[in-house]
Amino acid sequence: MAFEGLTGRLQDAFSVLRKKGKITEADIDEVMREVRLALLEADVNFKIVKEFVKNVRDKAKGEEVIGSLTGGQQVVKIVNDELTELMGGELQELNFSETNEPTIFMMTGLQGSGKTTTAGKLANYLRKHKKKKPLLVAGDIYRPAAIDQLKTVGSQLDIPVFEMGDQVSPVEIAEKGLETAKENNHDLVIIDTAGRLHVDEELMDELAAIKTSVRPDEIFLVVDSMTGQDAVNVASSFDELLDITSVILTKLDGDTRGGAALSISSATHKPIKFVGTGEKLSDLEPFHPDRMANRILG
Ligand code: GDP
Repeated sequence: MAFEGLTGRLQDAFSVLRKKGKITEADIDEVMREVRLALLEADVNFKIVKEFVKNVRDKAKGEEVIGSLTGGQQVVKIVNDELTELMGGELQELNFSETNEPTIFMMTGLQGSGKTTTAGKLANYLRKHKKKKPLLVAGDIYRPAAIDQLKTVGSQLDIPVFEMGDQVSPVEIAEKGLETAKENNHDLVIIDTAGRLHVDEELMDELAAIKTSVRPDEIFLVVDSMTGQDAVNVASSFDELLDITSVILTKLDGDTRGGAALSISSATHKPIKFVGTGEKLSDLEPFHPDRMANRILG
């Protein structure tokens, strides 16, 4: 799938290194120049690239790579480990409610990021893999047809959708949704919220009010990976204003570069927990940084 350009460039750089037999400091510098360019071309933030290259270089020079016959492989291993770290290290589990109360997840993000679709995907995934009984809550009262869209998703999955139309405040919808979930023995409530085209204060105030009112176990920021560094900026803004708990990256199937996947967790210090890999409601996968690093290195 994604990131062909990055994978190709890295493979070229490493194949030169592998052919060298014993490698020198200059070889490491040379390959790291290539890695740097490859990451910048993949739309990774330049500060993150700088730090990454420094870390790899320090490790490569610190370990007994220079002069070793397997030096080339060792550099690749160091890059692999650092890419894994850059994307958050280990798979991060979801935060579920630790009491008898239902788990509450809140979906946030800009319009078009994939929030509504991902709310459905997540409900479907957790029903299948964690035996949850989800209720979807339609809290986007502004976008025409958002409620209907969530209802369509719900009916495709046979998962109920709680809605109160578009004349009631999202806070009240979230609260009533939670009450309804308790009455009907749902152990998972996923609240869809409104998006805008840009981060704006009014929206953030509304999201903060929902957060204060229902205290979600997870506040997911849903971002479109195809928007690269913009996705990273959006994530930073949402995190600053709302203190999100984790990120879901959508449209990874269409992302040929990879900048958002590579930058977001180190820019926000929040983990990517899932990735969307297609338009179907089954196209959602937990995000494993180590597997992604392997995939990038090809
Ligand atoms: P919202 O405005 O944030 O609620 O976004 P939507 O859920 O309506 O999604 C916007 C568009 O992105 C829809 O056409 C979705 O089918 C599409 N979409 C969402 N996630 C993915 C994904 O992982 N891959 C692909 N290819 N399309 C996606």
